[in-house]
Amino acid sequence: RLHNMVQELKGNIRVFARVRPLLPSDLSHPGDEKAREEALANMSFPDTRDNREIVLSSTSESATGQERKESWNFSFDRVFEPQCTQEEVFEEISQLAQSCTDGYNVCIFAYGQTGSGKSFTMEGGPTSETVGMIPRAVEQVFQVTEELKSKGWEYALEGQFLEIYNETINDLLGKGEFDKKKHEIKHEKGSTRVTDVVVQRLRSAAQVRSLLALANSRRTVAATLMNERSSRSHSVFTLRIRGTNTHTGQVCEGALNLVDLAADRLKETQNINKSLSALGDVIAALGEKSEKSEKHIPYRNSKLTYLLQNSLSGNSKTLVNVLNLSPLAAHLNESICSLRFATKVN
Ligand code: ADP
Repeated sequence: RLHNMVQELKGNIRVFARVRPLLPSDLSHPGDEKAREEALANMSFPDTRDNREIVLSSTSESATGQERKESWNFSFDRVFEPQCTQEEVFEEISQLAQSCTDGYNVCIFAYGQTGSGKSFTMEGGPTSETVGMIPRAVEQVFQVTEELKSKGWEYALEGQFLEIYNETINDLLGKGEFDKKKHEIKHEKGSTRVTDVVVQRLRSAAQVRSLLALANSRRTVAATLMNERSSRSHSVFTLRIRGTNTHTGQVCEGALNLVDLAADRLKETQNINKSLSALGDVIAALGEKSEKSEKHIPYRNSKLTYLLQNSLSGNSKTLVNVLNLSPLAAHLNESICSLRFATKVN
């Protein structure tokens, strides 16, 4: 059913799932093979040619002492198994990321419980193999703009990095560690602006890496002061690109949004995480919109959807949702919850 829904959306919305590997830190005795097996959820990837399915199953004992087996099937546009590399994941989204240079507005979301690999997917590790989507995408955008110089294109690239916590916008690149300013989202002439936030002129991939590091250190400080914060805040990195062709006078504007979605509260009332449930509603409405063109899309129901309105609406929208999953049996319920949310997002 899910697969059919994805197909019906025809192209613009794609949903991937990525399962992280088991880490030594997941086990109290990493060397113990039996402990290793017990720690893993019963998760399989049926060998369909194009890696689209995840099957989860569990066995429990019923009150009458009988064994009860349950299993769940989920389909995606693509499933990345634990051994998949950052390069393989990026390959799948690189065309999309690059389309911001052609004037498209692109959103890439990472979603999943804390510890499932969202930051690893988005930002990645310190080595060239482990570097994540944001630096890879930025690097690619720089490369493409370099190549297009010979055809007369000149580009200006700008970046901002915001956090949405409890429906409040926080500037991760702002001056001072704690941004106490009140930021408002303004939509003017088809472009989105957030008041009083730092918008950095981007000049190199290396500069972007140091901006990411700065933003991360701020998120970490904030999370230390308020323990549950990191699992409840969303971060949105936006790269805006404006190209002008010096030969033809053509202008081309696009945006790439890379969003790390907090998810932990999902199992409780949906209202706690207003932005997340509003995003689900917006994406669901966008999916239906292809059938009924005048349908109302509830962008204004949360800061996140209002911020991303321009990138989620119109013909130029392209959207990828990467659902990150933990391989652990202890996280099975949370994983199923995430998979069901992804069903809605689909
Ligand atoms: P989240 O952002 O969802 O809370 P993290 O990205 O911090 O989760 O991942 C949790 C831990 O798992 C980190 O130590 C991270 O380096 C590691 N990790 C996540 N995904 C992978 C992966 N694909 N390969 C290797 N390590 C991973």
